[in-house]
Amino acid sequence: MSKVQVRTRIAPSPTGQEMHIGNLYTALINFVWAKKNKGRFIVRIEDTDRTRYVPGSEQRLLQNLKDFGLFYDEGPDVGGEFGPYVQSQRLSLYKKYAFELVEQDFAYLCFCSQQRLSELRQKQQEQKIMPPKYDRFCLKTYSKQQALELYKSGKPAVVRLKVPEDQVIDFVDEIRGKISFDSNLIDDQVLLKSDGYPTYHLAVVVDDYLMKINYVIRAEEWISSTPKQILLYRAFNWPVPKFVHLPVLRNPDRSKLSKRKNPVWVSWYLQEGFLPEAVLNYLSLMGFSHPEGKEIFSLKELIKVFDIKRINPVGPVFDLVKLEWLNGEYIRSMPDSVLKDKIILYYKNFKDKQLDQSLVAKTIPLIKERIKKLSDYWFYCSFFWQRPDNYQLDLKSYKDLILKMLSRLTDLSEWTADNIGNEMTNLAKQEGLSIGKFFMILRVAITGQKITPPLNESMEILGKDECLERLRLVV
Ligand code: GLU
Repeated sequence: MSKVQVRTRIAPSPTGQEMHIGNLYTALINFVWAKKNKGRFIVRIEDTDRTRYVPGSEQRLLQNLKDFGLFYDEGPDVGGEFGPYVQSQRLSLYKKYAFELVEQDFAYLCFCSQQRLSELRQKQQEQKIMPPKYDRFCLKTYSKQQALELYKSGKPAVVRLKVPEDQVIDFVDEIRGKISFDSNLIDDQVLLKSDGYPTYHLAVVVDDYLMKINYVIRAEEWISSTPKQILLYRAFNWPVPKFVHLPVLRNPDRSKLSKRKNPVWVSWYLQEGFLPEAVLNYLSLMGFSHPEGKEIFSLKELIKVFDIKRINPVGPVFDLVKLEWLNGEYIRSMPDSVLKDKIILYYKNFKDKQLDQSLVAKTIPLIKERIKKLSDYWFYCSFFWQRPDNYQLDLKSYKDLILKMLSRLTDLSEWTADNIGNEMTNLAKQEGLSIGKFFMILRVAITGQKITPPLNESMEILGKDECLERLRLVV
């Protein structure tokens, strides 16, 4: 018997500018689970909430995935057997299924006005009825036939799910075990709005079924939606997929990851010079642990060792400091030429920082151990491209000393880091100055900065003429 192919999906809503780091985490786990099982990873755009729709957001979301190398097998721009993969292009389907439910008495038409609904809600709140629910006025008032006729005559209506009373609705979450809900606490959800658009609950179930999704892997915040969706699966008599609700990422103070405490948009990480592979590696450690306790491993290795059951549902902490450390480890393990290319590529986006290949290549050995992200390169190395325009130390009182440095270096026959170092160390001794202090003065005179890559090597790269000129500028 052939095994059923694993099909996972992410279903982002184009309601923001970009992908949230939490959604990238969800995408990663969906991707890895599909690849692990030689299945397929699908992207579907859930754009039925037109009030929150942000134009252009869909393209940015898809680009974000590609930037991180999470290529999908089916999706809006790559197509697939089960398309279209954008919900607003599937409206007639949802309508058909909603009315099927009405026919079979799993759902009903509701004509209540917004005003009536808000008055009802207010009354229930006053009476402390929790949670407030629709009172089924239309279900009690109209027979199915009457309701359908009214609808056909043009009266605006929504379709509501008829949530059964006194039932326990449960499902097994693959990492959390059995989760149960009391149906009496669930409102008769709107499935189809009066404008013909489905709500999330209907669209997600119809599409997950039609797209043959058998693993629904999504964030924890969707747990409370699951019983409503289970009711729909039961009503349609469709197989229920396996559910996995991933833990919500937290700030180091354990609050929910939010814009105020951590950067949340994935493009920020790339703009800051984090490497996509390091970000994915770090995200994979959120709730998951490598069986050998490793912290650094490739996506390929993750796919090999990954197991959904190893995910710990307790909110993992997303710590930028740890991510920086990990990113630095990736940088250090890279061949110099690869790092050089990445740095050049990264700075292509900055018009005022156009770097030339050969100079970057020379600086790589000096900074590889120091930088944690690509954007650190400029912090350490800008002086290679531009003469200092301010100095982190007041050099006025060291003019005599700098003149001596200038004269010694002018006479230096071979301009190598070793020669520069020896000559300057001798001068420091003759002047009775501590090596630390002496080199700090030289460092600031040449670079403007107190923190730089190793100075002698940097001076060798800058070249004799340039170094002498820079010393002349400060005396
Ligand atoms: N459209 C939902 C979202 O914005 C999808 C939730 C789900 O995966 O079921 O994340």
